[in-house]
Parts: sequence; C-alpha cells; structure tokens
Amino acid sequence: MVGAGIGGAATAVSLRLAGHKVTVLEQAQELAPVGAGIQLAPNATRILAQFRVAEALAPHALVPQRHVRRHWRDGTVLGERPLGDAVAARYHAPFWHVHRADLHAVLLSAASSPAGPGRAAVFRFGAEVTGLWVSGTTAEVVTSRGERYRGDLVVGADGVHSNLRALLFGSAISRGIPRGVAYRSLIPVSKLSRGPEASFQDILGPDPAITQWLSPGVHFIHYYVSRGRYLNAALLRYGAQADPVVESWLREADRREYLGLLAGWDPRLVALAQLADTVFCTGLYEREPLAEWVRGPVCLLGDACHPMMPTQAQGAAQAIEDAWYLGRVLRAADPGSLAGALAAYQQERLPRTAAVQRLSALDQGKGLGERPGPAAADRPGKPEEEPADFSPYEWLWPYGEDSSPIG
Ligand SMILES: Cc1cc2nc3c(=O)[nH]c(=O)nc-3n(C[C@H](O)[C@H](O)[C@H](O)COP(=O)(O)OP(=O)(O)OC[C@H]3O[C@@H](n4cnc5c(N)ncnc54)[C@H](O)[C@@H]3O)c2cc1C
Repeated sequence: MVGAGIGGAATAVSLRLAGHKVTVLEQAQELAPVGAGIQLAPNATRILAQFRVAEALAPHALVPQRHVRRHWRDGTVLGERPLGDAVAARYHAPFWHVHRADLHAVLLSAASSPAGPGRAAVFRFGAEVTGLWVSGTTAEVVTSRGERYRGDLVVGADGVHSNLRALLFGSAISRGIPRGVAYRSLIPVSKLSRGPEASFQDILGPDPAITQWLSPGVHFIHYYVSRGRYLNAALLRYGAQADPVVESWLREADRREYLGLLAGWDPRLVALAQLADTVFCTGLYEREPLAEWVRGPVCLLGDACHPMMPTQAQGAAQAIEDAWYLGRVLRAADPGSLAGALAAYQQERLPRTAAVQRLSALDQGKGLGERPGPAAADRPGKPEEEPADFSPYEWLWPYGEDSSPIG
C-alpha cells in the first residue's frame, strides 16, 4: 500500500481480513490527528461494521437526526429530511458524523493491532514513494530515501496529488479545474455558551442536525463531531477565481477574508462563525473520471483515482467502498489470478465512483434556484425542489447490503 490515509488504512484492514500480508508506506513521519468532520452515510458505516471497527468508532460518532436547509439571509427553513432512526430503519446501517482523526485511528488500530484475524499490517512512516518498477507479475516501489519494497500487488492510495497515478498514467490528468474554496473550522461546543445562547439554540435546533445554509454560490454547513464536543463548520464558496487556492487540508485561511464572505448573512450564523479561532482553507477542483485505474500488478484507490468535490460528502465513503471491494476480489486471489481480480475491481468501482464524481461536480452552489451573481444575491430566493425522502440516495446508500462479509 502507498499512503496511510483513510483509503490506505481501510484497505489495510480489508486485505488483512482477506488473508493477505500488507506493508503500508506513508510519507508523513507520523500520523498527527489532522482534519475535521467527515460524514459517513450508510454505504460507509455498513462496511465499517464488516471491517469490525464500527464498535470502536461508535463512542466517537454522533447520529444526526435531521438534515435542515436554511436561507442564508434570515435562517428561514427551506426544507428538512429526517435522518437518525429513519436512515437506520431503511438502510440497516447508521448515518454518522465523526472527526476524521477518530475514523483514521480506529482503522489504523484494526489494521496493525497484534490482536485480530490474520497478519497485522506493517506501517512504515517517513516513506515517500517516488519510483515504481513493474516486472512480470511483481511490482517494486522505491522511496525518496532509496528503500525498495517489492510485492505481488502495489495499491496507490496516496491521495489527490498521487505520485503513483503520475507514475502510471502521467501527471497532466491530476490538475483539474478550479471551482472554488472550502473553509473549515472546529468550534468547541463549550464556546457556544459565550455567545447569544438562545440565538444559537434557535439555529442549532433541539437535537443534532446537519444544517446547510444556502446562498447563491456560497453554502455554509455545520454539524457536531467528536460525540458533540465540537461543531464542525464548513463554508463552500463556488465559482471561478483569478487566483485559485492550492489544494491542501493543512493551509490556514485569512480569518477576516473568511468572515467577509458572510457579510449580510443571518447575524446568528455570523456570530457562530466568529467563534472559530483557526480556519483552514483548501481549493476545490473538479476532475474528470480517469479511464483506467490498473496497470499490471498496480492499482489506484480513493482520492488517487477519483478525487471529488465535497458536495455529496462521499470522498471518504467511496475510498472505504473501494477498500471493501478490493478485499472481496482478492479474498482467494494468488499472483496467477490477480489480473482478473483487478479487472473486476476496476469494472465494479470505476463507473460508480465516476457517477459520484459527476454528481458532486453538478451541485456547485445550487440550492436557491439561482446561479451566483449580485442580482441573485438580492432576491429572497426560491428553493429548488429537494425531496424530503431518501429518493436522491436510493442508488448510493444501499451499497453492499446484500453481500457476505470478507473474512
Ligand atoms: C491531512 C488531511 C486532512 C483531511 N481532512 C479532511 C476533513 O477534515 N474532512 C474531509 O471530508 N476530508 C478530509 N480529508 C480528505 C479525506 O480524508 C479524503 O478525501 C478521503 O478520505 C479519501 O482518502 P484517501 O486515503 O484516498 O486520501 P488521503 O486521506 O488524502 O490520504 C492519502 C495519504 O497518502 C499519503 N501520501 C501521499 N503521497 C505519498 C507518497 N508519495 N508516498 C507515501 N505516502 C503518500 C498522504 O500523506 C496521506 O496520508 C483530509 C485529507 C488529509 C490528507
């Protein structure tokens, strides 16, 4: 495995359960608890249960009871969809909000713990993969320190700026079209009592929810993570920019610029956004699906092969699905049957992730029936039709419902 992010760690669990010996090479010297909120729809939590990590993650997860859509100017509720029990009853798996670091930690532990089925995966940190050689049925990677690792299979789960993808298919395809900026922050819930508490209560609601504030071209989403200790706040600003922002989860934003984007918004939301001490920002890029993910005994997985806009909140979920399916096709595989197994992996996963990529790209700043622009911003806005049931997710959330466990 190249990369120990969510996709790499999930694949290490899946391949361990499938009976394989796994070495994971990660460029970071150590894995710090970075990132913020991740939404895990039932297509992801169902697989986490099969990976036997759901029990360890549950104490860190929060179940949103509703998805509420509000108007940016005054908070008028535009629509609502029940989540919580309604999701669990329909899809036999929960909808969770987690901190990325908590999800990452339980996956790493399940992959590397001496307890558990099969052989524990071995993690090598400070191992940035810079070279790849394929010879017959084996592949070899080399790190920037000159260490070499050989395997029957190399999986490139090295994220959106994947070296493995560039080594396999060339670097031009990774650039993408800049589509906007995402700002994200974590607000300690203890801080909510320092503001106009009653106003916050009004917009946060009586029970945990995902709340999405819609303006033409800017969406603001907030939900609780870490079992309700933090409110995860994300502002997505769509549209072309003269100076596109780099794509990085670790870049600090200009706080004044961030708050400036909320000028004229509901004062309760502005007061909420002001409680964030540190705000991070990353560029949003749209990319066309790749034509292929596999070359000989090498395949790609997760953001390395299907980086997507965050509008469907499916980036981590799709990486987890990839990991699960790869474990399934490799359950009984040996070097002789690897090519067929990888072909099956690509055939199953590429069209589905391409559909999620395309859907995520379609939904840029929509929701009030208008495209960005000053005239539109002055109008009260007419909400686009958004069904209150689960019909938009019927093709997405049942994934893997009728399959047997891997290990
Ligand atoms: C630091 C960080 C914070 C994030 N925070 C959030 C968040 O708050 N909310 C959210 O929704 N999503 C977040 N994401 C993105 C989200 O985790 C991914 O989109 C999704 O989970 C897909 O996972 P992935 O494993 O494909 O990619 P990633 O999670 O990006 O993992 C890729 C891994 O590969 C490693 N790597 C890269 N190049 C090499 C190389 N050449 N050799 C060895 N290792 C390499 C990286 O260091 C990284 O650990 C974050 C990603 C990162 C890396």
